[in-house]
Amino acid sequence: MQQKYNLGFFPTPLHKLENLSKKYNDYTLYIKRDDQTGLATGGNKTRKLEYLIQEALNQGCDTIITAGAQQSNHCRQTAAACAHIGLTCHLLLGGEAPSSYDGNLLLSSILGANIHFTGNNRKGEDVNNLVSQLEKEGKKCYVIPYGGSNIIGALGFVNAVKELQNQLTNYQTSIDYIFFASSSGGMQAGLTLGKELYDLNTTLIPISIDKEETGGKTLEKHVFTIIKEGRKVLNLERTWFEKDIYLNREYDKDGYGVITKNEQRAINELAQKEGILLDPVYTGRAFYGMLDFLDKKKLPKNSNILFWHTGGIPAIFSTPKTPSVK
Ligand SMILES: *Cc1c(COP(=O)(O)O)cnc(C)c1O
Repeated sequence: MQQKYNLGFFPTPLHKLENLSKKYNDYTLYIKRDDQTGLATGGNKTRKLEYLIQEALNQGCDTIITAGAQQSNHCRQTAAACAHIGLTCHLLLGGEAPSSYDGNLLLSSILGANIHFTGNNRKGEDVNNLVSQLEKEGKKCYVIPYGGSNIIGALGFVNAVKELQNQLTNYQTSIDYIFFASSSGGMQAGLTLGKELYDLNTTLIPISIDKEETGGKTLEKHVFTIIKEGRKVLNLERTWFEKDIYLNREYDKDGYGVITKNEQRAINELAQKEGILLDPVYTGRAFYGMLDFLDKKKLPKNSNILFWHTGGIPAIFSTPKTPSVK
């Protein structure tokens, strides 16, 4: 495997959800805490950035450019990684400049990133213009794709499978199903490849968060593209077909970043039963999906089920605020 630059605290904790396992007593529920990776409030992008930033350093780059939503966790973690290493960070964020900053946007600015608001170009369409401008100024730029989702970033999640497997061996347990939020596809591709490489016998249930396409491609297609590249990089014998890419689209209908009573219910359930915070955009939606599976008893009795918490906590402190419901 490629080298990586250490940016977080790994392994992230893996533990049982005691109270929820009692409530849903047909199942045993676990959680993997990538909300605790440690990089400026943590999150799953830290794993991808360890590989992406290492590649940028290998290429002698001094400037990192990436794009995302205004409340992008990826952009905030990229800004933190750049600050830590002493790289210049430019963020292209969709929409117009708000009158005041909150949540991830506030943190990205505190972390010293150069922030550009890109109006309707919400997914990094303006990146080439910025690169040519900065190159004229003598900068050496490294562009991290939307969400850090290419094969380099996905290696972070190939490695995460090994990390999980070691924890499961130590705890003498196994996991039948893994739920997580899938949005730019790097995590899903990395876990799929890692499962194959390390022969981890578990079923992934990626919950789609964003019903829109990125760069004219569905998320399923993007995951497939990364996996095809990954099987070469990792020398895997298995071939994948597009139809092999499973993505659960039952919960993305309301659109990206729209907080409904479903996300609220999930956030309140985990907060009030276990004292653990979810975010309103990603993990709130994915955890709701898992609760829906449990309520409807869609999985076999006695299954061990893992929720992979991917972070996103700063979005709780953004507008619209997440109201609490009892
Ligand atoms: C980015 C992100 C995801 C999705 O990961 P992808 O690799 O982009 O699919 C899930 N949860 C949170 C909190 C994220 O920031």
